[in-house]
Amino acid sequence: MGVQDSRGLMSVDGICHCGEIAWEALIDPERLVMCHCTDCQVMGGGAFLWGVPVPIDRFTLLSGIPRSYRKQGSSGAWRRLHFCGTCSTPLYGTEDDNPSICSLRLGSCRQARQLRPRLQLWHASALDWVDGICGIPSLDTQPAGVYRDL
Ligand SMILES: [Zn+2]
Ligand SMILES: [Zn+2]
Repeated sequence: MGVQDSRGLMSVDGICHCGEIAWEALIDPERLVMCHCTDCQVMGGGAFLWGVPVPIDRFTLLSGIPRSYRKQGSSGAWRRLHFCGTCSTPLYGTEDDNPSICSLRLGSCRQARQLRPRLQLWHASALDWVDGICGIPSLDTQPAGVYRDL
């Protein structure tokens, strides 16, 4: 694990795929979740998103200005979802009005390998192969000419 302070909080930082947006945050690693909801599958361009809720005053944008859009969640509440307008990396979501919590996406986190989700949300809509991912044959890298880049 990374360095945690006396409250168990850990400093992390990240940068979007094109480098325009950089951020830092003080997170509680015990609150990490992965989310299999269909919104996260589409928005994240993958099988799930993973992230952590952070009080908004523990999240700082270091460079760039994210784009955002509003989306109504299944609870009926409106969420504002922030991403890089150039490379589309998902960055964070907040309440639409008067945000107090930042749902930080961890795909762009530099310390991602030191972090581990503690809970899976919306497993009812998980893709049916996700639980068996360890059983899928794997290669350490991508042999040239065998598979196209994703
Ligand atoms: Zn970007
Ligand atoms: Zn979700």
